[in-house]
Formats: sequence, C-alpha cells, structure tokens
Amino acid sequence: MLFNEDQLALKDSIRRMVEKEVLPLAAEIDDTDRFPVEWRKTFGELGLLQMWVPEEYGGPGGDLTSVCIAKEETGKASLTASTLCCNNSIGLILPLLNFGTEEQKQKWLPRSGRGELVTAVAMTEPGTGSDVSSIKTRAVQRASGEWVLNGQKSWITWAAVADVILVFAKTGDGPSHDSISCFLVETHLPGFRLGRAERKMGRNGAPNHEIFFDDMVLPPDALIGQEGKGFSACMKILDLNRPTIAASSLGVAQGAFDLCVQWCKERKVYGKTIGQFQGMQFKLADMAMKLEAARQMLYGICAEIDSGDHSRLQMIASMSKCYVTDVAMDITVEAVQIFGAAGYSKDYPLERMMRDAKVNQIIEGTNEIHRMIIGRTLTR
Ligand SMILES: Cc1cc2nc3c(=O)[nH]c(=O)nc-3n(C[C@H](O)[C@H](O)[C@H](O)COP(=O)(O)OP(=O)(O)OC[C@H]3O[C@@H](n4cnc5c(N)ncnc54)[C@H](O)[C@@H]3O)c2cc1C
Repeated sequence: MLFNEDQLALKDSIRRMVEKEVLPLAAEIDDTDRFPVEWRKTFGELGLLQMWVPEEYGGPGGDLTSVCIAKEETGKASLTASTLCCNNSIGLILPLLNFGTEEQKQKWLPRSGRGELVTAVAMTEPGTGSDVSSIKTRAVQRASGEWVLNGQKSWITWAAVADVILVFAKTGDGPSHDSISCFLVETHLPGFRLGRAERKMGRNGAPNHEIFFDDMVLPPDALIGQEGKGFSACMKILDLNRPTIAASSLGVAQGAFDLCVQWCKERKVYGKTIGQFQGMQFKLADMAMKLEAARQMLYGICAEIDSGDHSRLQMIASMSKCYVTDVAMDITVEAVQIFGAAGYSKDYPLERMMRDAKVNQIIEGTNEIHRMIIGRTLTR
C-alpha cells in the first residue's frame, strides 16, 4: 500500500474538489490564457496554496508526500492548476523553514498560512538559465543595512500576480557558492517593474514575465539565509521541491492515460472498439507500466525525504524529476496517437496535455542537467 489512511483521505478530498472546481474550467483557461482567479481563491481557502506551512504558524501542515498527492490530483485535470497548487512551497515556505530566522517566519508564514499569498521564484535571466552562477542581478548593502537591488529576470512564473518573489542576486564577486544571496522581494515596493509576457506553447493561465529591479530598496530582513550562501541554499530548496514537479507530471500522465482507457473502450473502428486490437492494448500496457514505475519511484523517494534521511537527496530528487517528467511526455504523445484526429483536436484535452507535459522537462533544471547530476554522483 502506497498511502496511509490520512493520505488516502487527502487524495480523495482533492479529487472531488478537482472534479467540481478545476475540470470544468481547464479547457477555457488554456484557450484564453487568463489567470485562474477562481482557483487562486478556492486553493487559498482550502489550504492548497500553503500546504507545508506548519500548524504552529497557522498553516495546514503537510510534508513532501502530501504536497505531491495534491499536485498529482490537480495535475490530472490541469497542469496550470497543479502548478498553482502548493504555490507557496518553493518561493516562501521551504526557504523560510530551512534558512529563515524566527522573525522572518513570524512575518511571513502566518500570512501564507491564511492563503493570502501568491509567490514566485526568480533565478533565470535573459543570458542564463541552467548556469545559475552566471547571473548578473546584483544587490549591494548600504551602511543602514538596506539592500539596493538592480537587474533583470526572465520567464518568471506568476510574476504578474505574485505578492512576493524569491530573487537570487550576486552580492559578491567570488565563486558562486560564496557570492549569490537570496532575497524575499515584495512586488508592491518601488523599483519593481513587470516586463513583457512570454508567449509560450502551453501551461496557459500560468503567466510568465520578464521582471526588472531598478534601484529597488529592500529592508535588511529581505535577505534569507547567510549573505553569499544563496547558491547552496537554492540548490537544497530546489532538491526538496523537485519531486513536486514530478508529481504534477504524474498527474498529467495519469489524466491522459485514464482518458485513453475510456476511449479504447468506446471508439469503434471496423465494427470493433479499438481496445480490442492488440496494437492498442500493447500501447495501454506500456503506458500503464511506465505510470506504475513512475508512481512507485516518486512516492518511494518522497517517503525517503520525509523520513529526514537526506543522504541521497540531490540524486534522488533529480531522478524523480527527470524520470517522471520524461514518462509524462512519452505518455501524452502516445495518448494523442491513440485518440487519432481527436487527439490533435482542441475539442479534446489530449493536445493540451501533450503541450503542457513538455515544460516540466525544461523547468527546475532541464532533464539534461538532472542526468548530469545523477551521472556525476555515480562516478564521484
Ligand atoms: C514555462 C516556463 C516557466 C519558467 N519559470 C521559471 C521561473 O518561475 N523562475 C525561473 O527562475 N526560471 C523559470 N523558467 C526558466 C527555466 O528555469 C530555464 O528555461 C531552464 O533552467 C533552462 O535554462 P535556459 O532556457 O536558459 O536553457 P540553457 O541553459 O540555455 O540550455 C539550453 C540547452 O542546453 C542544455 N544544457 C545546458 N547546460 C548543459 C550541460 N552542462 N550539459 C548538457 N546539456 C546542457 C540544456 O539542457 C538545454 O537543452 C521557466 C521556463 C519556462 C519555459
């Protein structure tokens, strides 16, 4: 049994919410590319933006496994919804829980716990994505303790709607592990500017923007963790969050697969349902095996990380992200094939699922970078 009773109850309650609130809007959000204000409200009320905020700070609590369950269930209907689900984890909750002071936790976690915040993370710049060490955004500290931030970031998910953004900036000139710091940047402060929206293939409704910092003055407590140690902090936070990207992809893959099983039982060709053809059965069998392997791997890795054993954190986080997102791409491509022309049609959700699946092979470290991390660990 993969889940305990509480986890099964969580999964079931989210499944029911998704059927009622997410599924009916999924195609329209994709078509119009509008930000889903309805989901923001529902998720905030149900504790789904802020899972992982401990109860002592007014949050619903949670751990990696429960966050992944929530992301998988929402992902079955919409990758956009799944990306919004547990939105505060990487941009706020994990950085504060792992590197924040008690004052910083008291300042932010109760607000997050009330479901009031949308957050974002800003690492990527026009000149650099994979190579975080080459970022140019810079923060300089004044004698008063305030920081002055200058620079530009690109492709930042939710930047247009975020209340607070975790920003990575250079604070020194030495090697990256000593010269990058991370800051919680409040977007209502002067000096923050939204640039152009990115035009993209999928995950519509989850806006991506360029952002600019023009002599933006940040309070001293905007710095999270030690000055100059933001790079290693960033890597730890990313590792802790990576399985959640896999969970979203697992949801997309499961959603596409479920539709395929149904379609194989209903679609008739040559007087038979296509599910009676061995060629189609083999496709379903391959998809089912990949899904099972992906699910067992993901939740096995979540259990290891939740146990507090982080001795293999970096490698297994990369494994889950890389393997499951690749599986989701394979399965959604095959799902379009099984649906034939209907798979290619915007009247059905398969082409959306295929477009959406692609992005998770690219973000949060490309899958080439993850193979590199795994290979490097194995040959160390
Ligand atoms: C929809 C979307 C949402 C995003 N959201 C955010 C966000 O919220 N915040 C944020 O900071 N960024 C975000 N990004 C940016 C994303 O994280 C980067 O695009 C990603 O890290 C890859 O960087 P790049 O695009 O610069 O590719 P590059 O780093 O230029 O890589 C290009 C190609 O080279 C390969 N490559 C690079 N280095 C190596 C190597 N050493 N060995 C082998 N191959 C290599 C890559 O795998 C890739 O195939 C988002 C991107 C997209 C598309």
